Amino acid sequence: MYLLLVEDDLNLGKALLKLLQPHYRMHWVRSLQAAREYMAVADYDAVLLDLGLPDGDGVEWLHTLRRAGAQLPVLILSARDALDDRVRGLDTGADDYLVKPFEADELLARIRVLLRRKSGAAQSRLTAGDLSFSADHQQFYLHDEAIDLPPKEYQILAVLIQARDKTVSRERLSQQLYGLGQGTDSNTLDVHMHMLRKIVGKERIVTVRGLGYRLLSQ
Ligand code: CA
Repeated sequence: MYLLLVEDDLNLGKALLKLLQPHYRMHWVRSLQAAREYMAVADYDAVLLDLGLPDGDGVEWLHTLRRAGAQLPVLILSARDALDDRVRGLDTGADDYLVKPFEADELLARIRVLLRRKSGAAQSRLTAGDLSFSADHQQFYLHDEAIDLPPKEYQILAVLIQARDKTVSRERLSQQLYGLGQGTDSNTLDVHMHMLRKIVGKERIVTVRGLGYRLLSQ
């Protein structure tokens, strides 16, 4: 795990490095300018961010990061303990906020939680070959490109990818689309299935005669 520490205070920065280096690969910068430069070229797993920095406010930078789509966890470390500051930090996209001074053990624990959450998010991606679904973004991808599906086709594929390599009955899919107690042999399911196959590739979804459908992961 590779962490970026953005902290201008020399003594605190040194102390944090000493604390964290046995656990993580660390990079320490003391300005937003340096943070920007390193973020552009390195792939960090999380950022520890001070707010009062010589060349600006950490929250402003965080705002820019999130707007640019950066998803890595950010923990704000700040002496500002006003409720407003905390709320603003979290609203801007910080994952957590720790008020200085803090205990070393608490910082270590919060970092562990952040990184665990991050790996949990990675697992919330379901894949079936080169087709995948991100539960976080509620988005399907084909060859890593986001694909747009009409609502019914999206619902069908969501059921199929969760059950990938297992047969899903027509009844189950009809229930998903139209709710319980609706006719299951309506050919609207066939219409949606036809459309879905056109979008993701016919060979991916196998018809299991008399039983239902199966999404292949290979
Ligand atoms: Ca500072």
